[in-house]
Amino acid sequence: MDYQLELTNIAKHYKNFVAVDGVDLQIAPGEIVSLLGSSGCGKTTTLRMVAGLIEPTHGTIRIQGQDMAGIPPHKRDISMVFQNYALFPHLTVYENIVYGLKMRKIRDKKVLMERAREMMDIVQLSGVENRLPRELSGGQQQRVSLARAMIVKPKVMLFDEPLSNLDAKLRERTRVEIRNLLKRMNVTAIYVTHDQEEALTISDRIAVMNKGKIEQITVPAQLYTHPATRFIAGFVGHANFFEGTVAAVQDDLVTVNTAGGHVLQAAIPQADRPAVGEAVTLVARPENIRVEDLTPDAPNQLSGRILARIYLGSTIRYLVDAGEGKELEVDLQPKYHTGLQEGDTLRFSVDPGKLILVDR
Ligand code: ATP
Repeated sequence: MDYQLELTNIAKHYKNFVAVDGVDLQIAPGEIVSLLGSSGCGKTTTLRMVAGLIEPTHGTIRIQGQDMAGIPPHKRDISMVFQNYALFPHLTVYENIVYGLKMRKIRDKKVLMERAREMMDIVQLSGVENRLPRELSGGQQQRVSLARAMIVKPKVMLFDEPLSNLDAKLRERTRVEIRNLLKRMNVTAIYVTHDQEEALTISDRIAVMNKGKIEQITVPAQLYTHPATRFIAGFVGHANFFEGTVAAVQDDLVTVNTAGGHVLQAAIPQADRPAVGEAVTLVARPENIRVEDLTPDAPNQLSGRILARIYLGSTIRYLVDAGEGKELEVDLQPKYHTGLQEGDTLRFSVDPGKLILVDR
């Protein structure tokens, strides 16, 4: 496999502080990979090392197989899109868009016009080419910065929280647009965000970063259904955690005695099966908790007092006190459970197949 971009054991140390701690990442041509993580986990530092704006303490960065050590940013054939758009305020939309081409010594007016028109068509900016950035909406400004970055057909595009300044609705739409655009032009991209929904929408794969390391890298759906660690289960989507000790393993069923005094059964694939006595954490997504068909012999029955009822539109989320200081989130379809109120006791269960094992 020839990777478009390859990071091998990349690290950045500041005096005694390790901002990025041995990151390995291989990105195929045309692939979009997000770096997802909370503030300070090292995602921007990683991106800036790829851009050549920060020198790695150690490790290798290759673009199309070529080692980038000592190669300055403008010779790496990459484009960056920033949160603040970084447009030239005194240049028109058109001038902003063709800027990169001019820097690459393309001077032929006809060629510039043609490439710019094509790009403005794609990002839907036709008609505003003579305006200044301040005469545009935030969404339009971001599309100018996208067009400007893309027109030079870079080997890799780097995005650093590009949508943070847009309102929620526009952000949602622009995510989809960016993904479609990148796919249509077959651009390889790294996309830095702390927003899990954004990462899930835009990426082919997501690398979740924590304390300078990639904790898991996989396709969006897998991250949600098969989080490798407790951190990831909690970071991507909502999660209820049950810590405990494995009491028995029989066929495909693992029995766990939880710290809260419950007995839970989880169906765990053979390859991941823990041993008796092992400390484990089980995760239940709020939407995988059910309150129907609780026959007396059904496994994993729990109950608790409803502390709060949160209306979310398509679901209602109940915060439930399950005892021993454990608060659980239970999402139910509103049409079936209109009568439940704060203070009521909720009985519920989780199917063994819906419990996820993390942090072996
Ligand atoms: P954010 O979303 O807040 O930008 P991030 O995941 O992008 O977070 P980085 O900007 O990569 O985080 O920073 C990682 C860590 O390195 C942070 O703890 C930061 O304080 C530290 N750091 C970054 N630059 C420097 C520097 N020049 N000197 C010392 N520490 C730094």
